[in-house]
Amino acid sequence: MSNVPTVRLNDGRAMPALGFGVWRIPDSEAEAATASALEAGYRSIDTAQLYDNEAGVGRAVAASGLPRGDVFLTTKVWNTSQGRDATRRAFDESLKKLGTDYLDLYLIHWPSPKRGLYVETWKTLLELKKEGRIRSVGVSNFGPDELANVARETGEPPAVNQIELHPRFQQRETRAYHEAHGIVTEAWSPLGQGQLLRDPVVTAIAEKHGRSAAQVLLRWHLRHGFVVIPKSATPSRIRENFDVFGFDIDDDDARALDALDSADGRIGPNPYTATF
Ligand code: NAD
Repeated sequence: MSNVPTVRLNDGRAMPALGFGVWRIPDSEAEAATASALEAGYRSIDTAQLYDNEAGVGRAVAASGLPRGDVFLTTKVWNTSQGRDATRRAFDESLKKLGTDYLDLYLIHWPSPKRGLYVETWKTLLELKKEGRIRSVGVSNFGPDELANVARETGEPPAVNQIELHPRFQQRETRAYHEAHGIVTEAWSPLGQGQLLRDPVVTAIAEKHGRSAAQVLLRWHLRHGFVVIPKSATPSRIRENFDVFGFDIDDDDARALDALDSADGRIGPNPYTATF
């Protein structure tokens, strides 16, 4: 059994606080990378329809011999599959590729407000949950306005909002909304896609603790109560990113990392201006 701590979702379920992200790992490599992660002890995998590697992830889970109930599987519906019928089709396709008959967590990947379909898509996720095919439902890249819209239209707030989050881009307003409404914050690009690993504040803290920069960043996320899903295709780094439960950063370190927040620290697209 894995010893990863869990966070409690607003639907009563538990989700591992640390998972493995597989964006930009091609399907041909996703099986080996996911197998390394499962071997290292990860029990939560974050993929997406868009990543085109759900089949590789599914093969690794099947080959691991782990009971399905021991692995927390997340995938996401892509923007072009928003709307009731398209979402149901995409969902069926994702399940087939992953080789499973249910998901632990299904997310709307981006709100894509120009399509005007995210509320209908949210209702479809709730439908699939009622049918027992999804355990928990959530969203990604939603801001407070979109979170409020889906909650108002359905009375059911998402369990999770997966957003870009790292010390240089801390999304305090969205996080405050999450805290007020019982939504778990899940951090994507928790290492700033690798860019934060060279930040002198981060490397100094790493040196002080005899740990790596990646481990320091992951501890910062866990200390804040975020779910974190670092990505690597390199087995030694996959193991390193999982080995974060035997030490902690201290209050001074946390304050120094909190102070790195920057208005222009965003690396990925802005959900409000994205054209996809
Ligand atoms: P990340 O912050 O996890 O950084 C990954 C990169 O950091 C790797 O490619 C590697 O170059 C480097 N790295 C990782 N571990 C390292 C280590 N120990 N030492 C040195 N270098 C290391 O970036 P990410 O992949 O963008 O984000 C993680 C996951 O978040 C993704 O795989 C995906 O699952 C999810 N994600 C979701 C969205 C979304 O819109 N919902 C967007 C981006 C990412």
